Amino acid sequence: MILVLGVLAFAGILDRDDKAYRVYSFRMNQVSQGLEADSPVKLFVLNARTSGDMQTGWFLSPPQSAQAPVIDSHQHLFSPAAAALVTGNPNAPGISARTLIELLDSAGIQRALVLSMAYTWGKASRAPVANEYEHVKTENDWTAQQVAQYPDRLRAFCSFNPLKPYALEELARCSKDPQLHYGLKLHFGNSDVDLDNPNDVAKVAKVFEAANRYHMPIVVHLHTSIDNQRKYGADQARVFLNQLLAAAPDVPVQIAHLAGAGGFNSATDAALGVFTDAIAKHDARMKKVWFDATVVVRPSMSPDDLQLIAARIRQLGVARVLYGSDAPASPLLYPKAGWAAFQRLPLTPDELRVVAGNIPPYMRDFAKR
Ligand SMILES: [Zn+2]
Repeated sequence: MILVLGVLAFAGILDRDDKAYRVYSFRMNQVSQGLEADSPVKLFVLNARTSGDMQTGWFLSPPQSAQAPVIDSHQHLFSPAAAALVTGNPNAPGISARTLIELLDSAGIQRALVLSMAYTWGKASRAPVANEYEHVKTENDWTAQQVAQYPDRLRAFCSFNPLKPYALEELARCSKDPQLHYGLKLHFGNSDVDLDNPNDVAKVAKVFEAANRYHMPIVVHLHTSIDNQRKYGADQARVFLNQLLAAAPDVPVQIAHLAGAGGFNSATDAALGVFTDAIAKHDARMKKVWFDATVVVRPSMSPDDLQLIAARIRQLGVARVLYGSDAPASPLLYPKAGWAAFQRLPLTPDELRVVAGNIPPYMRDFAKR
């Protein structure tokens, strides 16, 4: 249903380690059901504050309508407690599985991979919370209970900060959980994994080895911390390839945001170049590696930026590129809008069809309704 012209909304993008409250304004010219009373946009609108980098976009009306993706490979739910922590608003409602299902339905997407937000309880650049590990377990378990309500639609990956003393204990616990054993999400930015620090790399390698032993695939937000100004580019991507990917040779690994942190800049391109080179050389370590293109396309991107991203996707090979939306914290991030944004890339209809139809191994074998 077509609603208002020129509705102005404020929304935050929440998965970058330092861009949690980066605020965009945008106009919507076509808004479907999603924005009504129950909308998760509340999670952020209540907290939105203006920033210097407002941008205007006209995203919610897709330029064309290629078949919707089968899978949204990068989603999040927020318990009310996690939403309160992230937004600073004690009344933030969170994002439930029911809300996500409605948004997937309005985009025509069948299934989603839900990456637990438990790691945010151990966020490196936020003041520590009391009883952190209890909160981590509670968030993972809440996420498990949410996805269990939609066994034919949603699957959850467990998460935690891999540098924390409880990391291996939580991984072992998740490996035995009927909902959480499917895989692991790590966020190097949020957790401040410094790929230039051998101690950090050694700790994370232990987590990769253990996940490999438990046959748990890994989704990794590889981009290092922007808050803590860690270096990021080709050197850090090489550490990942040589020391971390090599530690989990038997499980699929999904590198989020095309190896960036949302958007696409020269550091992301340099990191991604390490992987496109390895793929070109038929490097065995890349055999089970997937890439999600979640929130890579931004409203402000020039045709040249879009061309570059499309070229990199072709170098990776469209058969290993997955569509993802990220948490529906604002209408800009709803799956329908995200897929419309992705289609701004100058990919051919056939290439778009391949991406839309890709199903990574860990999103197969769903229960029949
Ligand atoms: Zn995310």
